[in-house]
Amino acid sequence: MKWSLGKSKRQSYSVELSHGPLEIPVVRHPRRRRMSLRVREQRVELALPMRCPEGEILAFLESAKPWLEVAGLRAGELARLANSNSIWYLGVELGIERGPVEFPRYEEERHTLVLPQNHPLGDKDLALLWIHSVAVAEAEPLVRRLAEVMQVSVGEVRVRNQKSRWGSCSHRGTISLNWRLWMAPPSVIEYLVIHELAHRKEMNHSSRFWAVVARFCPTYQESERMLKAMGHRWMSQQLPAKSSLKAPPRPSPTEKRSQEEFPTPPQGSLF
Ligand SMILES: [Zn+2]
Repeated sequence: MKWSLGKSKRQSYSVELSHGPLEIPVVRHPRRRRMSLRVREQRVELALPMRCPEGEILAFLESAKPWLEVAGLRAGELARLANSNSIWYLGVELGIERGPVEFPRYEEERHTLVLPQNHPLGDKDLALLWIHSVAVAEAEPLVRRLAEVMQVSVGEVRVRNQKSRWGSCSHRGTISLNWRLWMAPPSVIEYLVIHELAHRKEMNHSSRFWAVVARFCPTYQESERMLKAMGHRWMSQQLPAKSSLKAPPRPSPTEKRSQEEFPTPPQGSLF
């Protein structure tokens, strides 16, 4: 029973803030040693060690109130954004329209994305899938072009759906980029690629690393600031669940021939 000593059984805490009460769910982890608060999946969470006296938790929450005032609002904003219809593409907030087009069409001068009027998916889901498809088409050529300029070798180039990272560079030279980067201005996308490629020279974030970044991207600090200020909005956007992308159910053997005559497009490529 040693481990239950001082263990709090509560699943959540409610903290009174200036804009109303904030419900904070508890997450426990056996290896955790310290209490901490974080914004995750559009809510504020309290991470606790398995053993933690109630009095300490309450004192900790009290001391964290100034942070919670801000983080609680931010979490609320994230939830609102995730449900709103607004779409960012290359740093511009786009309007969405339906029209007589076969594939999504971006009308740059009007800041508008025109979507096929008969497509069953909702505006936002379809727009995000389109941004994902643009990222898939553009990531590799961009990485290869910049790698040539920087004279570094790269392995595979992947477009990924990471929840919290914009990009990464593995020891083997695999460059992974988050598709949501294509919501950011082109200068930010370019910076991120240069950042990952600079890791081909320096596998760290030392001053030597930043000197390489600065050589190829003199405005990198501006891009870093933009990612800090806007990144959480873009990162909170989710592609539609796989189930809504599924091709029609498998045909029965008698239907098989017609299925072969009209093959469904590969998974995920809706356009
Ligand atoms: Zn890095």
